[in-house]
Amino acid sequence: MANMTLTKTPMPEQDPQVRAHNFKEVTLGYTAEMAIEEAGRCLNCRNPKCVEGCPVNVRIPEFITKVREGDFKAAYEVITSTNALPALSGRVCPQETQCESKCVRGIKGESVAIGRLERFVADWYRENVNAMPEKAVSNGIKVAVVGSGPAGLTCASDLAKKGYQVSVFEALHTAGGVLVYGIPEFRLPKANEVRKLEAQGVEVMTNMVIGRVLTIDELFEMGYKAVFVGSGAGLPMFMNIPGESLKGVLSANEYLTRTNLMKAYEESSDTPIIKSKAVAVVGGGNVAMDGARCAMRLGADHVYIVYRRGEAEMPARKEEQHHAKEEGIEFKTLCNPIEILGDENGRVCGMKCIRMELGEPDASGRRRPVEVPGSEFVLDVDTVIMALGTSPNPLIRSTTPGLETNKKGCLIVNEDEMTTREGVFAGGDAVTGAATVILAMGAGKKGAAAIDAYLQK
Ligand code: FAD
Ligand code: SF4
Repeated sequence: MANMTLTKTPMPEQDPQVRAHNFKEVTLGYTAEMAIEEAGRCLNCRNPKCVEGCPVNVRIPEFITKVREGDFKAAYEVITSTNALPALSGRVCPQETQCESKCVRGIKGESVAIGRLERFVADWYRENVNAMPEKAVSNGIKVAVVGSGPAGLTCASDLAKKGYQVSVFEALHTAGGVLVYGIPEFRLPKANEVRKLEAQGVEVMTNMVIGRVLTIDELFEMGYKAVFVGSGAGLPMFMNIPGESLKGVLSANEYLTRTNLMKAYEESSDTPIIKSKAVAVVGGGNVAMDGARCAMRLGADHVYIVYRRGEAEMPARKEEQHHAKEEGIEFKTLCNPIEILGDENGRVCGMKCIRMELGEPDASGRRRPVEVPGSEFVLDVDTVIMALGTSPNPLIRSTTPGLETNKKGCLIVNEDEMTTREGVFAGGDAVTGAATVILAMGAGKKGAAAIDAYLQK
């Protein structure tokens, strides 16, 4: 008999007043009892809509049934047959617009907490089994993967399983992509995915900026038979308003990299961030929420989210908006910066904004924000973080003859995941522009299958 409670089993969290000043994980995860209770809410539908909503088609009712039976190892095996990184997707996937949005329990009440259950299973496995994957018998064929984000890691892992000799080339000094340099520890504790890859025989090389240290042509000369480009979309956008070059204006990418990867919150950090009194984060996506919540944890007295549309239009996950507000971040919606003001030392001392109202829908279907004449005001801030979106860095395209991109700088791939250069495949944010972890993982999987088909022809 199913558990017909209308709401999800709550997941414990750190108290907002406490967590706003530390970098430990905000949500604490289910206990085994909570997981079994929540799994009891699943109806094990004959035609499970939730699976259709999952970009990698995890067999959701099957793994939830195993959780209900208390067989967490079997649940892990079901999930990882299609999703190699469940500890990540359980934490950062926008389940509310994917699997959970399709769950029939959501028609009358809340959907089954699929993401929380996936996270529980992954954490249980890490704590209780944590077996390293086996190394497949080598087929001796060398493949290069550029970038170690979710797209590159998934592609490398799938190819290694098939026996390819895979080398990952990562520009930064630590592998993991946005998972290590962008998404903060308090949302995604750093895992050991790279150690698992190495156990599979994959060589991971850091400080290797492809296009500078080596070109893609040189990789082919070194004997690599195919290349997968999963270099992400790490080039930040700015507003082009006066004052953007003042000291104290940062891109969210730089701010988050300094904080997460370079541990700017530790006194011994090589790249400390000056303690701000008041911070404005411009933007309304997950990146903006992460920037604002880091600024609060780094000791700012006031943190504002400045967004030109309304709260309903914000692209950030609802859970992140809710957590940010609980931690004391003030939302200034329908408000757009027009100038950043500087003091005599060239440092930010305020941000001039104008109020907005929503007009007719634009090409994206969202109502276009329009300025309210005469409504300018100054926000008293000493730091401005721009979180307006990112695009792919042009370095690889500009150093690889024949590699074509679209107007947004994204690599063009055809139906078999190959770019316009023979033997060069691509996937993840480098192809789609800034998207999600699960889509990047899906692209890495497709890329590996396409490379295998190409090399076995
Ligand atoms: P990336 O993760 O960007 O990895 C690309 C890697 O390639 C990087 O390590 C980079 O250093 C490396 N690289 C780049 N150029 C070169 C080169 N020339 N040579 C060698 N290496 C190179 N998604 C969600 O689903 N949920 C969330 O909650 C979420 N929050 C986010 C928060 C932040 C702050 C950010 C920035 C993104 C967030 N995303 C979220 C988006 C998600 O992280 C990305 O869509 C995903 O990481 C893309 O994966 P990828 O492998 O394509 O690229
Ligand atoms: Fe279970 Fe909901 Fe999926 Fe049905 S739609 S199988 S209730 S998770």
